[in-house]
Amino acid sequence: MRRADYVKKIALVTGGLGGIGQEICAQLGKAGYVVVSTFMRAGRDEAWTKHMKDLGIEAKAYQCDVSNFEDAQALVANIKKDFGTHVSVLVNNAGITKDGTLKKMTVEQWQDVINTNLNSVFNMSKAVVDDMVAAGHGRVINISSINGQKGQFGQTNYSAAKAGMHGFTMALAQEVAKKGVTVNTISPGYIATEMVMAVPEDIRNQIIAQIPVNRLGKPEEIGGLVTYLASDGAGFITGSNIAINGGQHMK
Ligand code: NDP
Repeated sequence: MRRADYVKKIALVTGGLGGIGQEICAQLGKAGYVVVSTFMRAGRDEAWTKHMKDLGIEAKAYQCDVSNFEDAQALVANIKKDFGTHVSVLVNNAGITKDGTLKKMTVEQWQDVINTNLNSVFNMSKAVVDDMVAAGHGRVINISSINGQKGQFGQTNYSAAKAGMHGFTMALAQEVAKKGVTVNTISPGYIATEMVMAVPEDIRNQIIAQIPVNRLGKPEEIGGLVTYLASDGAGFITGSNIAINGGQHMK
């Protein structure tokens, strides 16, 4: 591509400083996107920005609570101001768990998980989709979970939020399909992030025994799938829920 033809395209990854998010950012960046991420806990953005720069990626991180509607709208307005263009790819990746059986689950645990995993998808999509429609091109990619497909003991909140993401995906996909915008869900199984690797080895081996390919997934495998869905070649895929779980749950 000649430099004069080059137009900056922004990929916004919520929770892009996390275990899976970093790899999504790295791979979108290597594919040529300017990468923008959100983070919650202060003080971690410098290392992430340096890491992206070392990979040759133009990147910026913004502190933002994506579960807050006004914060999400302000974030996207700031990105447009800072980069002079709209967001072309939105990856709704920020997520939390606050587990407990229904008997023990508090209203706060329920609401925090629904707000962060599901309401954030509404908040962020509202902020970016009109610009994508106006541009005649866009990608919304929602990172759900195997537990949204099959349910998980102790995770009524998380399973409901993650299943809800896909309902949102299918409805929005129909609303924007004619405008060149695709909306898809990715449902990962167990991925070898720091959190999963911190699980005691014997428990981790029990988890791996349930996975037909006999290993955990790699964050870069999620990054690769996101980058493919973001590409022009994936324009015929919309409203899908793509499982990436080593065969642990087939549907
Ligand atoms: P991490 O905890 O490593 O990363 C999650 C990121 O989300 C963090 O960077 C966190 O920011 C950010 N975040 C949390 N709450 C908010 C908020 N309110 N506003 C903005 N950012 C927020 O998790 P993973 O990388 O493991 O998971 C990424 C996604 O993949 C999640 O949606 C998760 O549910 C899903 N997933 C993960 C699996 C796995 O095996 N790891 C399996 C299936 C699905 P900060 O650190 O600054 O608080």
